[in-house]
Amino acid sequence: MVILKKTYQYRAYPSQSQKLALNHQMYLSKRLYNLLLEQSQKNFKETGKTSTKYDMNRWITEFKKKNPEFNEMYAQVCQNIADRVSKGYKNFFRRIKERKQGKKVRAGFPRFKSYVSSLTYPQSGFKPEKNKVSVSKIGNINFVKHREMEGRIKTFTIKKIKSQEWYITFSVEKEDTPLHTNGKPIIGMDLGLKEYATLSDRTRIPNPRLSNKSIGKIKMAQRRLSNKKKGGRNRKKAKIRLAKVSEHIARQRDDFIHKTSYRLVNSYSFIAYEELKIANMVKNHNLARQITDASWGNFTRYLCYKAESAGCRVVGVNPKNTTRTCSGCGNIQDIELSERTYLCRNCGLEIDRDLNASINILATAGLAGSNASGDAVRPQQKANVVESGTTFGGSR
Ligand SMILES: [Zn+2]
Repeated sequence: MVILKKTYQYRAYPSQSQKLALNHQMYLSKRLYNLLLEQSQKNFKETGKTSTKYDMNRWITEFKKKNPEFNEMYAQVCQNIADRVSKGYKNFFRRIKERKQGKKVRAGFPRFKSYVSSLTYPQSGFKPEKNKVSVSKIGNINFVKHREMEGRIKTFTIKKIKSQEWYITFSVEKEDTPLHTNGKPIIGMDLGLKEYATLSDRTRIPNPRLSNKSIGKIKMAQRRLSNKKKGGRNRKKAKIRLAKVSEHIARQRDDFIHKTSYRLVNSYSFIAYEELKIANMVKNHNLARQITDASWGNFTRYLCYKAESAGCRVVGVNPKNTTRTCSGCGNIQDIELSERTYLCRNCGLEIDRDLNASINILATAGLAGSNASGDAVRPQQKANVVESGTTFGGSR
């Protein structure tokens, strides 16, 4: 048995008074977070040790004595805030370790929060019913259950996004039978900007560009915001307007990657992609905007979690030399970013650079000891390349 983890998100409609209560709880959460962080820093300076769960609980009790307002918070929510502080610290130490290993990461201390926009009930204090959820300290909040949940509900989160809309999320766990492969073809996948993805069987998934209409809307909202006086009421309104437009575009993008990942895991039994490319390329400032827009991180995450139930396996591989290697003979040579075609100086192979990379990605996954052996991968893929491919996915 495998435990599958899944989250369900719904749009929520708290009443006016519930919104006030939620905002107040978030305000208390922010204060508690900052107090715990301050205390942890003090503790770290004095003892050189990180704070334990026991320390945190002791501090929370002290804060409650000094400031009875914190008694208005649900105990489990307090616990979650303490966990968030601990997590911030753990990530801080992880980054320091990575720096020592020579990785280029910033290792700043965990920061104080200027606001908290979500509340998490990690175990109890909430009960979902048909179209409402009863939440401790808040009441019955209405939401639109557009699909049923399957599995055991573990945690509940309510959040306010920038456009002032409310969303609730349930995380669930479900037991599942171990993976059976669906017997479909295996594939390497090169992620890019021109094509969102190029597959080693020549399938191309075009990158859905922002429509001129969307770009116009964003520019208009940005212009309006910059014209408003700082701190004014109208500036706040313009900010919300801009957030609404961006969130709308993000939802469209999300829809595209949901559909595309669904189609892929149902068309193939094995998908290999370049793991680190995603993290590396966002650092490139010229392309950063477009890449963030291309949202590869979410795409591969969706692929992974949809793969299980579709009988598909998704594997991230090291991107080293996937672009520079000839997929025909294994020769390694440099190729400029502007060169769209890989022309091998050793065997003369002439092949689209993304297609070449995707074949190498599959080979890398195979050689790395996944379910396909490296030897079996190469010849089979070469044969596939000759066939003409298909194009599916979003519109340009
Ligand atoms: Zn070659």
